[in-house]
Amino acid sequence: MTQIYRHSIIDIRSREYPALNDMTYLDHAGTTLYAKSLMYQFSNDMTSGIFGNPHSASPSSMLSTQRVENVRLKVLRFFKADPEHFDVIFVANATAAIKLVLEAFRDVEVPGFWYGYHRDAHTSLVGLRQLAARSRCFESDQAVEDWLKETADGQKDAPSTAVGLFAYPAQSNMNGHRLPLDWPGRLRTSSHADCQKMYCLLDAAAYVTTRQLDLSNVQTAPDFIALSFYKIFGFPDLGALIVRKRASDILRHRRYFGGGTVEMVTTLKGSWYAKKAHTIHEQLEDGTLPFHSIIALDSAFNVHEQLYGSMDNISRHTCALASDLYNQLASLRHANGQAVCEIYKDPNSQYGDAKAQGPTIAFNIRTAQGGWIGKSEVERLAIVRNIHLRTGGVCNPGGIATFCHLDYWEMRRNFSEGVRCGDGLDLLGGKPTGIVRVSLGAMSSQEDVNRFVNFVEEMFVEAGDTMEPAYILHPITSDMAESAVEKVQVFPILGCSGWQVPRNISWSIKETCLQYDREWCVVLKGSTTPLDHPSMKNIRPHIDIEKGILKLTAPLKPSDASSNSSKSECDEEVTISLWDTPSQRIQPYLNSNHHLADSYDSESIVSFFTAVLGIPSTLARFNKITESNWNDSVSPLSGDRSPRVSAVSDGEAQANIILSGSSKWKSQHYIRIGMHNFQLIQSPTPHTAEESRRLRHLPNIYDRSLAAQNPTICYGDYVQSFSADSASHDPALRASIASMSAGQHVCPVWNCRKDFNVAEELAAHLHTHKRLADVTKVYDEAVMDVEVLLEPTPKRWRRWKLRLSRKV
Ligand SMILES: [Zn+2]
Repeated sequence: MTQIYRHSIIDIRSREYPALNDMTYLDHAGTTLYAKSLMYQFSNDMTSGIFGNPHSASPSSMLSTQRVENVRLKVLRFFKADPEHFDVIFVANATAAIKLVLEAFRDVEVPGFWYGYHRDAHTSLVGLRQLAARSRCFESDQAVEDWLKETADGQKDAPSTAVGLFAYPAQSNMNGHRLPLDWPGRLRTSSHADCQKMYCLLDAAAYVTTRQLDLSNVQTAPDFIALSFYKIFGFPDLGALIVRKRASDILRHRRYFGGGTVEMVTTLKGSWYAKKAHTIHEQLEDGTLPFHSIIALDSAFNVHEQLYGSMDNISRHTCALASDLYNQLASLRHANGQAVCEIYKDPNSQYGDAKAQGPTIAFNIRTAQGGWIGKSEVERLAIVRNIHLRTGGVCNPGGIATFCHLDYWEMRRNFSEGVRCGDGLDLLGGKPTGIVRVSLGAMSSQEDVNRFVNFVEEMFVEAGDTMEPAYILHPITSDMAESAVEKVQVFPILGCSGWQVPRNISWSIKETCLQYDREWCVVLKGSTTPLDHPSMKNIRPHIDIEKGILKLTAPLKPSDASSNSSKSECDEEVTISLWDTPSQRIQPYLNSNHHLADSYDSESIVSFFTAVLGIPSTLARFNKITESNWNDSVSPLSGDRSPRVSAVSDGEAQANIILSGSSKWKSQHYIRIGMHNFQLIQSPTPHTAEESRRLRHLPNIYDRSLAAQNPTICYGDYVQSFSADSASHDPALRASIASMSAGQHVCPVWNCRKDFNVAEELAAHLHTHKRLADVTKVYDEAVMDVEVLLEPTPKRWRRWKLRLSRKV
């Protein structure tokens, strides 16, 4: 790479960032790093003068005031903004700057304000919509373009509120896509400006890290610009709101005042006040300024210029590195040709074009079989290699939804199933719940790029074996099949009727049960003990996954119907959210059955059950948190949730899966339905009237194909059964059985795949991957285990088969 800075990047790093030594820091979008000289200059500055609280007459105070005002001008100069047209308000960070704008818009007169925001917006921008009278999310750059054109012609979607605010990020904090900066100017000349007052807020936090924000044209500049200085300099922890003075009137709507923003206040015998009116920053900087931090900014500007010359230099440097990193990651292939990284690049941008693309790459890693490596597994291995990156939702809900192809209902479902920021729930419904993000900064080097690419290559690229491992399951063909799935049904409410899954829907198999099966129960009001009442059979459920609802219908009790003949034709009906848990939380009593469920206190639900059953009752949902703590001795229900399988002729009423054709499976130990293996277990109550057996799903933890990661069952799936003996001749079933005794935590390193019972053991094990030599050692151990236990296999298959059979 050609040298862009005055000194070589190696010199700069060894002199200014000694702690970077053998660290690969790839989270500059989180915060960049501060230089050693910056800390020295700042401490010299601090120890050579006395700085008092600004805005008083003492020399120490005057000194602070003067320095603060100088820095304010420096900030404007840095962004090429004319002090005649712009002012700077110091705040804690970009989010605080955004909230300051919000405070003003929130306080405009009714009917409130219209709010538009771009899909790529950071959560901090999205949050403004909660206080808007109306809001709109623009799903793409093109949607904004169309909107600007529409309104330029004075057409539809003109907001009807008095004021409007359009907000977008200059750069997506998720994938680095840089958005057009001509929108504010075009918005201003569009008919929005005529029909009502429309303002533009630019979130520049991610953008200014590696790119010059140029506010020299006041006509095209945004009205409000939010940014953080630690993303540019690493220090101080300070942000700013830059305001275009012509747009400052709206900020006077803000009703709050505090020390610093008010001239005089009366509190006794009348609440009169006079706000400061001289400059915009005086009106908005509540309380004592963070003046030490502002003074530190002075050193930050100086050192930054000495080291890097200009933002344009940084832009060229990071753009070239990001382009190389992107090309290398995009070209990584498993031996079977499958791409290793699924990179979430915006279709409107190209790496290498700094105008449209920042030095940030968002992606997920795929296995050779097309499954996913969880983001948290990537992160844990990165930590072992001292690589610092970011994973999760990165506060960018629109970006995650778009690029991980998550529909609204899937986001709602993911949350209800426990997906939270920074957790380990990496995959749901066969889709990633978040991403891995690497981002470069001014002091990133080619070495950083190479180290990261090597890491991905060494840990995740499946090289060598070009054939598929034997443990991978394939669909059963019709000539191997004994029968097929005739019907799938779930019983959402314990003791109530079942609901037949539509034939075109593949239903999820969860850890111990089918999705939404026996997840609710009926309880007496005020109790949490499941109720068993003959009329419950009359309650018919219906599930709509995408709408997120469980709908219940039931005929009225005969006694009610006879007393009021006009109602006898009517069914009672009620709708329950699949995503929300009940509002009323029952006090948990440990060591008793009474903490099993949370009951619903909504009036419509209580009156439905009370009317249908004729006794004061309501619905309760088994609590997901306590559920995981259940064990068979405590809970009467935990054993009950395993799916039940039956043949068409026998007791369909209570079975989840009904099979057609041969009933050979009844005497067998294992059954394969579609692509998934199950163990057949005796029913706990040995004889109910019907011939059903319970199923235990045997997930194959060594199979990293998408189908194995997202087990489902569907009408028409073929069925094959196995005795204990025949199971041992089927590699895929053997792998599933091995998974049972193995832990659920498998090392994600492609040529290791050791398994552990608990996450902590896996975490400890990952440290053996610090150096490649250790990877080989783990691998050798695994191979030796295999040889002891298995019949000879063709050499290239050996490590797969051995690993799988180790615990059989
Ligand atoms: Zn390992």
